[in-house]
Amino acid sequence: MMPEQLTIALSKGRIFDETLPLLAAAGITPAEDPEHSRKLIIGTNRPNVRLVIVRATDVPTYVQYGAADFGIAGKDVLTEHGGDGLYQPLDLQIAQCRMMVAVRQGFDYEQASRPGRRLRVATKYPDIAAAHFAAKGVHVDIIKLYGSMELAPLVGLSDAIVDLVSTGGTLKANRLEAVEHIADISSRLVVNQAALKTKYEWIEPIIQAFARAVSGEAVSGKEDHEHPAD
Ligand code: AMP
Repeated sequence: MMPEQLTIALSKGRIFDETLPLLAAAGITPAEDPEHSRKLIIGTNRPNVRLVIVRATDVPTYVQYGAADFGIAGKDVLTEHGGDGLYQPLDLQIAQCRMMVAVRQGFDYEQASRPGRRLRVATKYPDIAAAHFAAKGVHVDIIKLYGSMELAPLVGLSDAIVDLVSTGGTLKANRLEAVEHIADISSRLVVNQAALKTKYEWIEPIIQAFARAVSGEAVSGKEDHEHPAD
C-alpha cells in the first residue's frame, strides 16, 4: 500500500531555483513559486507530493525528525548541523561555492594567525570555523553572527570572517580578501532514514531521477508515465 504523502523540505532562493530542473526530471512541478507566495506548504502537480519551505539551516532538522521525508541542504549547513539521522545519498552539485577565511584588504593575516596570537573570527559557522583553526593550531575567539559577516572586520568586531564565497563580488565590494580555502560546498540530498525504508518505492525513483539529471543523462520518456507516488 502506498503511503499517503511525500513531503520535501526546500529553502527559498538559490537552492529552490536550482532544484526545479531536478524536480522536473522526477516529474514534479511546484504549483506555486515560494518567492511570490507566503504559503509555507506548496502543492505540486502530483497530488501526494508537497513541498515545505523552510530556512536553509532548518532543512536538516525537518528531515531528521521526519516532518519532511527528504530535503536539499548545503554541505555548509549539514556540516554545522552534524547530519545525525540523515541519509545523504547524492551530491546534487547545485549552489556551488567555497567556504573561505577572509580579512580586510591589506590585513597581515600571516602575522595575526601566528602561534601565541589570538584571532577574532566572526561567522555563521562556529563549528566549521573552530575545527579549521584547531587543525592549524591557531587560537581563535569565535563570534557567532547570523548574517552580513562581511561587516564584522570593517567595524572592528573581528579580524577575520569565515563565510561562503561564490563570485567573490561581495568580498570585493566590501574591500575584503579571501586568504584561506576551507572547503568546496554544494547542496546534497538528505533523506530521513525511516522514510527511506517505509516510502522506498516513492523515494528511490526520485533519487534515481535526480542522479540521472545531475550526471546529465537524458530523462527517458518512459518515467513520465510512471509515477509510483501518485
Ligand atoms: P558572492 O558575492 O557571489 O561571492 O556571494 C557571497 C555572498 O553570498 C555571501 O554573503 C555568502 O554568504 C552568500 N552565498 C554565496 N554562495 C552561497 C550559497 N551557495 N549558499 C548560501 N549563501 C551563499
